[in-house]
Amino acid sequence: MVSEDFKSMLQGKSVIRQLSEYATARGNEIGYENVFDYSLGNPSVPVPQEFTDAMVRLLTEEDPVKLHGYSQSQGIPSVRGAHAEYLNKRFGMNYTAEHLFMTTGAAGAIAHAARAVTKPGDEVITFAPFFPEYIQYINRTGAELKIVPADTDTFQLDFDALEEAFSEKTSAVLINTPNNPSGAMYTEETLKTLADMMRRMQDKYDHEIFLISDEPYREIVFDGKIAPYPAHFYDNTLTCYSYSKSLSIPGERIGYVAVNPAAKDADIISVMCGQISRGLGHNCPPSIIQLAVSEVLGITADLSVYEENMNILYDELVSLGFTVTRPGGTFYIMPKALEDDSVAFCNKAKEYDLILVPADSFGAPGFFRMAYCTDTDKVRRSLPALEKFVRECYPKY
Ligand code: PLP
Repeated sequence: MVSEDFKSMLQGKSVIRQLSEYATARGNEIGYENVFDYSLGNPSVPVPQEFTDAMVRLLTEEDPVKLHGYSQSQGIPSVRGAHAEYLNKRFGMNYTAEHLFMTTGAAGAIAHAARAVTKPGDEVITFAPFFPEYIQYINRTGAELKIVPADTDTFQLDFDALEEAFSEKTSAVLINTPNNPSGAMYTEETLKTLADMMRRMQDKYDHEIFLISDEPYREIVFDGKIAPYPAHFYDNTLTCYSYSKSLSIPGERIGYVAVNPAAKDADIISVMCGQISRGLGHNCPPSIIQLAVSEVLGITADLSVYEENMNILYDELVSLGFTVTRPGGTFYIMPKALEDDSVAFCNKAKEYDLILVPADSFGAPGFFRMAYCTDTDKVRRSLPALEKFVRECYPKY
């Protein structure tokens, strides 16, 4: 008999996927270049040459038996060591190889981190707006995802609401900065206040509360700024990273968990993740991809197009009368819809071949998300459609 639980998920196809499929089908009718598809967060820039060169070198120069062999369950030791050294230099940390665990992207990182620091029945707090897959990543561990409503003025954190959300059962807080879908980057002040409150709650409930920090957009930051590193502010931090966006290699499925050496049980968490892998049937990302990323630490794809696209869209949205918080990073922007029902708003936009995603499933009803990981030319060509949509459907704006 098939699992009724997973079978029931077949009805709940993600809104983003549905819209993306609609965009593809519409593209088959009128040419995809005429569909202004802002649905999927799929990187639009090529992988850097350095990564390709590293792959070619590995394939042509390394011993094939070793290269394509199993890696240790925590990841290849030299790869973990190289990551520790790089992170120490960049963020002033003191990781060793033993604090690193190589994963299949941020998804794999969060799935392991959550299992390492929760037990079934615990609660994991996150903040709206949030990446909807968090529901699967957390609830499938047997813990429960608890969502703190958004501070829709700034898309930083609502600390009064957070304080109310803590309970005896809280074992972790899951953050994502820079944030999908709002584009907000948490300030140092936000992270310090969060850390202070979490320390207070650890004392109050007399057990550790871990910070799981999801950072796949760490390198996509605007205005020449640098994303503050959350592990700096809080000892019990598990940093979850992905190369999907920074190197434009989402299909290669590579990332890591970095356990703050100052965390409780820091010396065993990465080893525990290796054991967790056995139950998940996940067992390490491919050896060649681990080796290739460790050869290009600090290198990114040319991510500048995202900032250019953001500026064009932000200016246009403001001039059309939208309420919108300027993103600090990522390739997402999340304006307020021009009517309360953002699903109706996005459905009307489809008539103008604008594929916008209602933010209801991100925990921000009334808003919509635009993923502007696309050609700048296409962003510019979408502006008349956006203007026509607003003028015709919402004449008072
Ligand atoms: N977390 C956030 C906030 C994301 O936006 C994504 C992917 O878009 C992920 C995690 C999953 O990343 P990966 O594809 O590297 O597993």
